[in-house]
Amino acid sequence: MPPADNVMEKLVSLAKRRGFVFQSSEIYGGLGSVWDYGPLGVELKKNIKERWWRSMVHEREDIEGLDAAILMHPKVWEASGHVAGFTDPLVDCKQCKNRFRADDPRIKGTPGTPEAQCPVCGSRGTLTAPRLFNLMFKTFMGPVEEAAAVVYLRPETAQGIYVNYLNVLQASRQKVPFGIAQIGKAFRNEITPGNFIFRTREFEQMEMQFFVKPGTDQEWFDFWKAQRMQWVQALGLKAEKLRFHQHGKDELAHYAKDAYDIEYEFPFGWQEFEGIHNRTDFDLSRHQQASNKKLEYVDTSTNERFVPYIIETSAGADRTTLVVMVDAYSEEEVAGEKRVVMRFHPALAPLKAAVFPLVNKDGMPELSRRIYDGVRRHFNVFYDDGGSIGRRYRRQDEAGTPYGITIDGQSTQDQTVTVRDRDTLLQDRIAADQLVEYLKKKIGE
Ligand code: ATP
Repeated sequence: MPPADNVMEKLVSLAKRRGFVFQSSEIYGGLGSVWDYGPLGVELKKNIKERWWRSMVHEREDIEGLDAAILMHPKVWEASGHVAGFTDPLVDCKQCKNRFRADDPRIKGTPGTPEAQCPVCGSRGTLTAPRLFNLMFKTFMGPVEEAAAVVYLRPETAQGIYVNYLNVLQASRQKVPFGIAQIGKAFRNEITPGNFIFRTREFEQMEMQFFVKPGTDQEWFDFWKAQRMQWVQALGLKAEKLRFHQHGKDELAHYAKDAYDIEYEFPFGWQEFEGIHNRTDFDLSRHQQASNKKLEYVDTSTNERFVPYIIETSAGADRTTLVVMVDAYSEEEVAGEKRVVMRFHPALAPLKAAVFPLVNKDGMPELSRRIYDGVRRHFNVFYDDGGSIGRRYRRQDEAGTPYGITIDGQSTQDQTVTVRDRDTLLQDRIAADQLVEYLKKKIGE
């Protein structure tokens, strides 16, 4: 493998070349830390989100889905603590105009004092004292830009779930313990975004809030912690690159009783991509107080009333996509030639197979088209008749396509095709009318 710092550069360039991820508004010089998903990227991310939804909502009787709006009543963010507390201390350099987090390890000395040194231009005494900066994007609702019309782009999807908890409970006739799951966009005006799609200003979260009786929270916390690690492992990630990190007292959010991150070892170090949090009754109590609406749960069998505790599992769809891409990236030599291959789990791969006529004559294109039309009714499949077969294989290796179906001279005689395995490079010859069954078994969906 190439050196670590190089891997991210190579991945960003492959992502653009192959159509996974593009910089937003690139023709205008790009927009800071906002990214667009191209034809392959949108499939990859969608496969991850669908897998999450299937395991969280469809495969569980006790979890319901929700799609709450991005814009919410501004009081939601006051009650949640985001207006007052969702801030990072920031430092500006008066000389070079760069902006840093006050805890940036590259800053020498205490910002705001004459000794402090700017990590970019090296000037001394030019760093301002830290100032608080709210990470929420603000906009105005209606035609008048005044304080009363301020609304925020949500910085997390969780609050849409909390304020709908009684609606969902009543409509679905669930009983505590039960959960609500949601996938949706969130926005944070991050001060130090970066590392490609790791930390961006617009991103998608996959969150599940599980409502439990106080006193049973530890048990459910342990349950969800184990479940989420299992789900992540089943994405086919390298086991040695995954670990839990428990939040120490100084890291715990003010509302949390216990929290674990699931971390991945990126080329830039171990970093969180999912969190499991015991949020206690903090959120519902705060909303109950601020809205003046009872958010208690009544257990009809015992007549007990309580504000449920919440166990949250919160994952980033984009960050998980990055984990999957980093983990899949590999370089190797095959017969003296270098190849780059994205070893995606077949169920996550954007394209499941590619169809190649060996040459564009002797009936091969016609048969290939027929095979392609048959297979693509079941899977996302690519047709490629351009260039040598070796080059076509390489292109699909970079796209992470697990199977290459080649139609050759023999195919037109006996209706068989070869299927090349992306990882082992072994080829099976099978009957064309068995292809769909063969692929279904291999992909394991
Ligand atoms: P970080 O400290 O990395 O900013 P966080 O602890 O603030 O993350 P949470 O608020 O717990 O993150 O959000 C849950 C998940 O949402 C994270 O694990 C991550 O996958 C994703 N996420 C949060 N902020 C961003 C962002 N700016 N860009 C992409 N994904 C994000």
